[in-house]
Amino acid sequence: MTEPHIKQAGLAVELRNLNKWYGDFHVLKNINLEVQKGERIVICGPSGSGKSTMIRCINRLEEHQQGDIIVNGVQLTEDLKKIENIRRDVGMVFQHFNLFPHLTVLENCALAPIWVNKESRKAAEVNAMKYLERVRIPEQAKKFPGQLSGGQQQRVAIARSLCMNPDVMLFDEPTSALDPEMIKEVLDVMIELAQEGMTMLCVTHEMGFAKTVANRVIFMDAGQIIEENNPHEFFDNPQHERTQLFLSQIL
Ligand code: ADP
Ligand code: MG
Repeated sequence: MTEPHIKQAGLAVELRNLNKWYGDFHVLKNINLEVQKGERIVICGPSGSGKSTMIRCINRLEEHQQGDIIVNGVQLTEDLKKIENIRRDVGMVFQHFNLFPHLTVLENCALAPIWVNKESRKAAEVNAMKYLERVRIPEQAKKFPGQLSGGQQQRVAIARSLCMNPDVMLFDEPTSALDPEMIKEVLDVMIELAQEGMTMLCVTHEMGFAKTVANRVIFMDAGQIIEENNPHEFFDNPQHERTQLFLSQIL
């Protein structure tokens, strides 16, 4: 991919000596990561290596115990106001969509802009339609999530995040719950977002996507970042034995 236009210089996300435990279990071990605005980072690694935990810490869906997390220059602490602000700036897309089943597609998209950003219903719905058009499902606006395919639901989830006009998007295995024929329609939307300059951290094992879109690939194992490189070097010349083993299993 040609380098997308980077809107603003500077750091979007910084993780400094990040450590987290679940009870006695040390799940994240001294993670250090700097994400420049406009970067597209793919995070991969074996199941249980801490990928979800790491990205969930970035918008405080999980709490860390040691180290610093700084998003758009603001340090994450218990301060609820800051957490709210950071959640507004950081969109998240999950493996299982997490749409509200009792709300229509349009209502799902307009909900946070109305309740969090205090937009009028009319304005929020007009904006939501714009994003539903962007993910190519405006005709589904009045349906409920259960009436849509998995690929369509995931595109709604992306549109819903975009309605909050985030600076950073986090994706946690957005295509792993999808039937194979629906994966491309979701990846295509993510590729477009990347081309428009969105800062993205994507946990995914879609290595074609990583090669097309990522400027950096990060490999995690047992709570640590073991290796990181540009996709070309990462796939063609993995340095660490564990990275080689992982790639031999998925490619
Ligand atoms: P990944 O996304 O790489 O598969 P996770 O971040 O989901 O890894 O999990 C990392 C480790 O932490 C796993 O061993 C998992 O069982 C454990 N874990 C995840 N969430 C919790 C939790 N809420 N409580 C206790 N252990 C957890
Ligand atoms: Mg995970």
